[in-house]
Amino acid sequence: MYDVFVSTTGQQGLEQAQALSPELILLDVVMPGLSGFDVCRQLKQNDHTQPIPIIFVTAQDTVNQQTEGFELGAVDYITKPIEEAILKARVQTHTRLYQQTLQLESLAATDPLTGLANRRRFDETMLSEIDHCHREQACLSLLIIDIDDFKAYNDGYGHGKGDDCLVHVARNLEACVRRATDLVSRLGGEEFGIILTGTDQSGAQAVATQILEIFNKQRYVHDYASQHNYLTVSIGIVTTAFSQITDYMPDERILVDCADAALYRAKRNGRNRYACSIWPEDQG
Ligand code: GH3
Ligand code: MG
Ligand code: MG
Repeated sequence: MYDVFVSTTGQQGLEQAQALSPELILLDVVMPGLSGFDVCRQLKQNDHTQPIPIIFVTAQDTVNQQTEGFELGAVDYITKPIEEAILKARVQTHTRLYQQTLQLESLAATDPLTGLANRRRFDETMLSEIDHCHREQACLSLLIIDIDDFKAYNDGYGHGKGDDCLVHVARNLEACVRRATDLVSRLGGEEFGIILTGTDQSGAQAVATQILEIFNKQRYVHDYASQHNYLTVSIGIVTTAFSQITDYMPDERILVDCADAALYRAKRNGRNRYACSIWPEDQG
């Protein structure tokens, strides 16, 4: 019923859990070297392995020992000698629960129309990437992309076609972003955000140029647009070079506001273009 991987020491178990991301861990308590409780503690301290359910399998069945296992974050306990039917039932229950939890988490972070990450996921990623880029003294860039004359599109073609258009824009944006660490998201309405980790201003400009080019080449029909007869977007960019600011950190809202201000400039300068800002130099 399952792919099973076996480790014969706690250390090996930790390495396998990290590498394989299993859906369940059956863990002995008494082992040479690291004990099962030590392994459990380490699994729960690591962001990657923390959510994986752990069932202790042991001959030690005193109330105190079982309680300690639960306090460390185990979901269940099976005592030796192992009854096969009980083992199977518990494994099935906990793998199913875990799969459902993962599905729910993924749904809660996804925009249903476009399948992109939603605002909630965007906010979480901004927070973690600000932290990460600050630690690494790296650059962080954020692009906010807004469809030009989208109200006219909706009014002219109807909301159904408007929704199709949003999906089309989402696919274009995904096509322009290649690094696994970059995040494309729908912020709401006809606004999209792209977080580019470890990317300086010229890198962000290259991505923005590619996005503008895709729309100008495709000429997706928009007869109600104010300047062309096809769909275009405007882009606001903000970049922070963390190697140049050591004493304080931007919060996520400030960077979004900065990118928004740049977006407003791109709109005012005629749309179908990008504008850049550097935080904190250009902070309003
Ligand atoms: P600008 O070039 O300055 O960006 O003008 P705009 O018309 O794109 O901007 P505005 O903010 O005035 O209009 C945004 C429109 O986006 C309003 C609404 O009709 C449309 N919209 C927002 N969310 C959705 C959605 O989920 N589906 C559809 N079909 N339309 C949406
Ligand atoms: Mg807008
Ligand atoms: Mg717009």
